[in-house]
Amino acid sequence: MAAARDTFRSWFYRPWFLAMLAAVLSASLLLAGSYFVAIQQVEQNESREMNAQGARFLARLEQLFGQLRESLDDLEAQPLRTCNDEMIATLQQVSFNYRFVYDAAYMDATRICSSRPRQDGLPLTRPPDIRGPTYSYWLNTTTEPDENRAALMLGRGNFRVATSRGHLTDMVDLSPGSSLLVVLDHGTRVIPVLGASQVWSLTEQWPPTTREALQVTPSRLIYRMPTANPEFQLVLISPRTGNHIPPMWWWLLPVSLVLAAFVGFLVFLLVRQRQSLDAELTGAIRRGELQVLYQPIFDLDSRNCVGAEALLRWRRPDGSLTSPDLFIPMAENTGQIRQMTDFVLQRLLEQLGQLLRANPQLYISVNLAACDVMVPRIGQVMARLLTLHRVAARQIAFEVTERGLIDVEVARENLQALRDVGHQVLIDDFGTGYCSLAYLQTLPVDCLKIDKAFIDALGHDAASSGVAPHIIHMAQSLHLKVIAEGIEHESQAALLSSEGVKFGQGWLFAHALSSVQFIELITRGRRLTKRRLDDEA
Ligand code: C2E
Ligand code: MG
Ligand code: MG
Repeated sequence: MAAARDTFRSWFYRPWFLAMLAAVLSASLLLAGSYFVAIQQVEQNESREMNAQGARFLARLEQLFGQLRESLDDLEAQPLRTCNDEMIATLQQVSFNYRFVYDAAYMDATRICSSRPRQDGLPLTRPPDIRGPTYSYWLNTTTEPDENRAALMLGRGNFRVATSRGHLTDMVDLSPGSSLLVVLDHGTRVIPVLGASQVWSLTEQWPPTTREALQVTPSRLIYRMPTANPEFQLVLISPRTGNHIPPMWWWLLPVSLVLAAFVGFLVFLLVRQRQSLDAELTGAIRRGELQVLYQPIFDLDSRNCVGAEALLRWRRPDGSLTSPDLFIPMAENTGQIRQMTDFVLQRLLEQLGQLLRANPQLYISVNLAACDVMVPRIGQVMARLLTLHRVAARQIAFEVTERGLIDVEVARENLQALRDVGHQVLIDDFGTGYCSLAYLQTLPVDCLKIDKAFIDALGHDAASSGVAPHIIHMAQSLHLKVIAEGIEHESQAALLSSEGVKFGQGWLFAHALSSVQFIELITRGRRLTKRRLDDEA
């Protein structure tokens, strides 16, 4: 099980594997994203086109109906009421006057006369599809694919006028599969005027209450035109085209693949760089490029040094310093941090063992990483070193951060074991994590170190200026010691002291010192002189 987990973990350190993973992930994301964008685009175009086509159709129909009604009014207004040559001439004149009138006719009980020699198409005896107060309407009066056949006929009294299919479509092309329909009787009856017959399944109230002319369903676009008579609506229906892969996407495909390959390449470079830093760090430990410095901790009232915090430094062969904020998180990820903690413990006892033996009240605190807290190993390493150097356990304290307490149950057990043998346990950077008062009560802890951010805010109007006093009072109520980190100004030291904080650490007093400087500080009498002590680095 553990072997399988290790193999799995090891894959995540292989640049090629990570690069491929990143490339595949980014390719999938890019392709899915571009497909979505392309589909949206197609749908928008489709709706825009349908709206434009619908509006053009509406304009043409208004013009056409206007002429048909006007021509009927003219015929109704003239006095002739019998089928004779004069009537035929009048009908022909009307058909000549009105561009959209293809055929005009008069019918009475016995005869029918028309502006054109009689054709089979005009269903003059068929009852109208729509009977209005003034005009009657005959729809779909022919199914023959003849542009000159009447598609629509209007009647008033004994007169009839018809328009041809060509007049309806000469301005607006019906796309394949589209139709112009008239919807009647609250949507229960549908008569096609032009185009293919359509399946009309009524799913909701008709006419719809929405103001939008265009309705988009998964398979069709339905454009509803307003009509003067609410009894019927003219509707344009088109099948949707947006369900297939849009052509634009085929162009985005190679672009996405190139981008994904680029992301993979970047990840490859990053992992390689990280691994080389990894390898450098391993070399650094071996070559002794790591150093331990000691930042003194002072009693704020007496300004006596009571101890120090051990801080790691990585000095490269070229003399440059790499900040622990950079290499510690990396060492935590790769597991090299265990080696580093052991190094700090060993080096500190080698350098300061004698000083600690000579000053039994002095202590040094060591930062622990999350993985150090999760196993009892540190206790064992420490015990061996303390015996070797004859130093008391209470002279070594351990700092853990709130973030380091991943599994609280395990951490609590290991920290308690350290306290049981005499070590002190401190919570570092307190206030930046999630520790509440209730939670804190359950932890085996001796001291809180207030994070520098809250010390910086002291005396300012910032919202966080009240955090430090709050932590201090909380610690006092739990009988915990408090150390203030990152004191840079006398005013901060004075304020903290007046709040009851006994200990502090910061550049006001001293930077991190080499072991030699720290020993000198203690042997000189632990007192601060006027001159601030400076980092050996
Ligand atoms: P930390 O444990 O909170 O250490 C305090 C940091 O604040 C140190 O930075 C120290 O130099 C800095 N500091 C102290 N006083 C002042 C001040 O007055 N002003 C300012 N601006 N900074 C101040 P450093 O040494 O760079 O360490 C950074 C962090 O790296 C430490 O934060 C700690 O989390 C980690 N670290 C350092 N050494 C070790 C180590 O041996 N083991 C582990 N696990 N972590 C370490
Ligand atoms: Mg610390
Ligand atoms: Mg800190």
